[in-house]
Amino acid sequence: MTSSVVFWDFDGTLARRDDLWAGALLDALTVVDPKANVTLDRLRPGLSTGFPWHTPDEVVDARTPDGWWWSLRPTFLAAYHGAGVHPSTARAAADRVREEFYRQDAWELIDGSLEALSTTRSAGYRNVILSNHGPELPQLVEALGLADFVDLTITSAAVGAEKPNPRIFEFALAKVGVHAHSDVWMVGDNPIADVEGAERLGIRAILADGAGPGSRGRTVLSAAEHIASESE
Ligand SMILES: [Mg+2]
Repeated sequence: MTSSVVFWDFDGTLARRDDLWAGALLDALTVVDPKANVTLDRLRPGLSTGFPWHTPDEVVDARTPDGWWWSLRPTFLAAYHGAGVHPSTARAAADRVREEFYRQDAWELIDGSLEALSTTRSAGYRNVILSNHGPELPQLVEALGLADFVDLTITSAAVGAEKPNPRIFEFALAKVGVHAHSDVWMVGDNPIADVEGAERLGIRAILADGAGPGSRGRTVLSAAEHIASESE
């Protein structure tokens, strides 16, 4: 098996979900109470803390999928409470967030992501998704049609550590059986979690944030082409 590996971030790099967690909470609330008069802006403040990636210095024992979602329940309830949702409605909606967050049709691939994965694979790399995410990310990757181009999906929920914590990078390197200084890259849209986190271990990293106005990054396809051109 090739020792050349590209680690790919998921959210904002390969795919996106409308309004991410606030979007999922609003979708769940709308299912439970179609007349609920709540906006994304009222849900967002309650979601700025409480997720494991808000405290990447903390490493925990990996939870079961049910345990991972249960640990977020107080965060969901607090967000609904902050938005003025009735407690009984909030409890029912919180129970629905898991299903809504990973609803396949809520996600879309970012332009160029399939071509990017195909480019690095053709250049001899294994593609490994390395993401701060929930337990069901591997199933979502499959549902979005990425599985044909992806060798492995590693989600922080199954590791108990979040980027930029070195522990999740060390876990990923060990899992694929390569060293940080072999032909390994990290591509992601977050300058701290993805780029600084990887570089701290000596992994080469590329910021792929869509290369919009004022960006220092590349598009995901241009990142892949750069890696292929540097291929050893
Ligand atoms: Mg991201």
